[in-house]
Amino acid sequence: MSNVIKDLDLENYINSLERASQYLLSLIEASRDPLFAIGTTGKIMDVNEASVLATGVSKQQLISSAFVTYFTNPKQAKTAYDLVFSEGFVTAFPLTIKDHKLTDVLFNGAIYKDENGKTIGAVMIARDITEQKKIENELTEAKIIAEKATKNAEEAVKTKQQFLSNMSHEIRTPMNAIIGFTKVVLKTELNAKQKEYLMAIKMSGDALIVLINDILDLAKVDAGKMTFEKTPFKLHLSIKAMLHLFETKIQEKNLQLITNYDSRIPDVLLGDPIRLHQIILNLVSNAVKFTNKGNITVNVTLLEQTQDKVILKFSISDTGIGIKEKKINEIFDNFRQATSSTSRLFGGTGLGLAIAKQLVEAQNGQIEVKSELKKGSIFSFTLEFGKTNADAVLEPEIIELNTDIKNTKILVVEDMELNQLLMKTILDDFGFECDITANGKLAIEKLETKKYDIILMDLQMPEMNGFEATIYIRNVMKLEIPIIALTADVTTVDVEKCRAVGMNDYVAKPVDERLLYSKLIAYSKKPTLSGKSSKGEKLQKVTSKYIDMSYLNKLTKSDPNLMSEIIIAYLKQTPSLIMTIKNSLENKDWKTMQAAIHKMIPSFSIMGINPDALIMAKKIYEYAFTIEINEEINALVLELEKSCSQACLELEHELKKIKKYSGENK
Ligand code: ADP
Repeated sequence: MSNVIKDLDLENYINSLERASQYLLSLIEASRDPLFAIGTTGKIMDVNEASVLATGVSKQQLISSAFVTYFTNPKQAKTAYDLVFSEGFVTAFPLTIKDHKLTDVLFNGAIYKDENGKTIGAVMIARDITEQKKIENELTEAKIIAEKATKNAEEAVKTKQQFLSNMSHEIRTPMNAIIGFTKVVLKTELNAKQKEYLMAIKMSGDALIVLINDILDLAKVDAGKMTFEKTPFKLHLSIKAMLHLFETKIQEKNLQLITNYDSRIPDVLLGDPIRLHQIILNLVSNAVKFTNKGNITVNVTLLEQTQDKVILKFSISDTGIGIKEKKINEIFDNFRQATSSTSRLFGGTGLGLAIAKQLVEAQNGQIEVKSELKKGSIFSFTLEFGKTNADAVLEPEIIELNTDIKNTKILVVEDMELNQLLMKTILDDFGFECDITANGKLAIEKLETKKYDIILMDLQMPEMNGFEATIYIRNVMKLEIPIIALTADVTTVDVEKCRAVGMNDYVAKPVDERLLYSKLIAYSKKPTLSGKSSKGEKLQKVTSKYIDMSYLNKLTKSDPNLMSEIIIAYLKQTPSLIMTIKNSLENKDWKTMQAAIHKMIPSFSIMGINPDALIMAKKIYEYAFTIEINEEINALVLELEKSCSQACLELEHELKKIKKYSGENK
């Protein structure tokens, strides 16, 4: 009986083993991943159907063959099964099956042991990653393509900007010649018709230059090359001066200009007044252009302030033609105008708002517009400014004019006839006296017979070039006369060379008239360090009249409020600057002294302060610079103090007169 039972048990056992192995087999076969059972020597012991499919080799052939045979890199395959036997398992081991399509797989595997714990083989399962690889490759390819496209786009933008700036530069040169020569001809005897035509040429030229500068500006902002200053400036004064520019036009059109200025805004702000001008000028000139009746209102309000900055909102509203709702989103785009007839009726190019927007956004501000057809428009923008305790720097257009230039003699050394004529026109326009020579050699001959105050020296000339001439003037003639180079290429090499031979400065061609003017003013009357000439002859010439109001009158168009404001600012700053100069002289603190003089100098031309005071100030500046302290600097500081105090007295008197006059006229 027990035997029967035993037999039955065995049968059951065998049956269960068979079932289990059947079960395992079906599991193995069900796997779509190739599966290899390999022995410790690397021979294949068993495979599933998926392996047959993957390798393209029959099961009989596979069994007993070497595992490594079926991969493109047998060495790598050996590493895989070595690893599984040494570590007991392997995960995500990459191999490529040597079939017709070279299937990429990742192997996962583990060893199996007998009942005594002895390793008898390993099972390796491959996961086909062809699809995954394909997606990965596609992604990499797409990434490369996208990167290439971005790079191409960036390059295209760069090329466009380069093209724009080159073209603007190229157009500006002949345009300047056209305008310059038109000006020359306009000064000759002409009949009314000729004059009218020439004026038309000049006006078109001027308009074109504005356009070219706009394009250049846009290219600069696009390229991120637009830089923004952080200058201390008086916003209130700045806005007033700016709006003055529109007075005539506004009066002509019978419009009303209303300004509301928030009195909580700090007096001096830190920012870029020139760019702010550019934005406001664009918006106000549009408001004036597109309004035929009613008013233009300019509001400046303080939105927010912290300890070190303020956020201001500027809004310019008009009662003009307004803008159609569906066009409103386009007007900030380059070359966009609200209607196709705009350009015909009102002129313009559609760049002004694009530039204004770029300038605002580049300074982290926001610009927006609200408009209603036939009712009017409101353009507003926000900008952030820094707060500062520094004194405001007077702006270029205020510094620009100087009354005492008539006696400044300039020698222009330039071989190109066209450039000679242009330079002559510009200098005549400024009111300087000038002589022209065609090369360095002729310039030297001139210098031997006549005294000049400044030389404008071209660099490339026949016979004797600008560098050679300068070397001769400095080393043989021993003249300290300021020499400003006129250079076509402002390369650092050229600039260095100019300095090395003893030139004082350079101006790039085509010359920017404003820049040239400011340089000429700066170098005219520059005192020589020898101190021989100026003191004896000039310092005693200080006359009883220390100021000349004509420039201030011209600058402010005799606006009493503006005049008073500027005079008050001068009266406030001057005594403390004089005090600083005196203290720093005592303490031999030349840096502070220079800074104070530097602050003082621009105000001289505005107040028409006697030119001798400017000479004194510049001499003190130079002495402080060379730290060549001697008796003379003490005397000069005293003289300067005297001139400034006298000027202040006279200005106080003027201020009273202005107040009285404006009171009477109210
Ligand atoms: P431009 O004035 O040179 O044409 P802008 O970029 O300054 O170029 O302005 C673009 C367009 O926006 C103008 O042509 C005009 O159609 C519209 N626009 C701008 N400002 C005003 C305004 N204040 N009132 C009505 N339309 C305006």
